[in-house]
Amino acid sequence: MMTAIEQLQPQLTTQLAQTIVRQQVAHAYLMVGEDQSQTVQLGLWFIQALFCQDLHAGYPCKKCNHCRRIAQNNFPDVLWLTTTKASLGVDEVRPAKLEMEQSGLESSHRALVVQAAEKLTNASANSLLKFLEDPTGQVVTVLLATNSTMILPTILSRVQILRLANNVVDQTWQAQLQKEGYSTQDIQILAAAHLDNDLTANLAATEFDQLKKLLQHWFDLLWQQPQLAFVEVGAKINKQVNQRPQQKIWWCLLEHLFSQALNQAAMQQTQLAQTQSAVEYFLQAKTYWKSNVSFENSLEYLALSMEAILQRS
Ligand SMILES: [Zn+2]
Repeated sequence: MMTAIEQLQPQLTTQLAQTIVRQQVAHAYLMVGEDQSQTVQLGLWFIQALFCQDLHAGYPCKKCNHCRRIAQNNFPDVLWLTTTKASLGVDEVRPAKLEMEQSGLESSHRALVVQAAEKLTNASANSLLKFLEDPTGQVVTVLLATNSTMILPTILSRVQILRLANNVVDQTWQAQLQKEGYSTQDIQILAAAHLDNDLTANLAATEFDQLKKLLQHWFDLLWQQPQLAFVEVGAKINKQVNQRPQQKIWWCLLEHLFSQALNQAAMQQTQLAQTQSAVEYFLQAKTYWKSNVSFENSLEYLALSMEAILQRS
């Protein structure tokens, strides 16, 4: 099964969901990512969120009439512009512009998605400028591209640029890690947590495995018995994770676990407010560590905060 975009791009989906909740959606976006299928998935996800009839904290339900028809490219207020040709010329852009100038048929707003925006010719890109800047109605434009250097600067200055996290596992890096004994699953975790070569170069596969297990255990404790998680920091974790590079990996993996928890909460509509507070405390704890509060004290702060959250609910 295809991995959901909320899992592949947790930061961007969280960010976009928040702009929808806060009603701060921009006129135009450029989504840039090396993996075209993920960029398309993210574009689709965002458009669904804009029109969803059963929105949950800014996340589309993917089940309602609008969500389903948008996925099938069968929703009149969304126009998906793409071409199999080498370029996307004025002739293709003009009718789309005309259509977008009409008011929405089934909703108060409309959306235009331009897939492979790097195929826009100078003339067609220029014809879009006015539209991006001064939309006649309630139109959101989403440009999708694999490379932003191909996009005209005049366009770049008018859109909000969202860069997709590169979680496509580099083949050479993967082979290297496999040789060192990392399992495929661990390599995927490393990629998703954005842990690059430098960070893992000094960590043997067995050490990583131990670190991961220790972390998962502590993360579970945080949610179930935060007092115990607090005790474990001094009793165990601080002794085993005593080097700065290891600690950095710890924070990256922990961030990955928290964003997974947040996405899950948003999708299942369970304990969303609680999870959001937990993520905020996590970010605070990480900031403490970065500004030289000890690893031990930063984790203890997080455990105490989790205890407070759980007591409130
Ligand atoms: Zn929906």
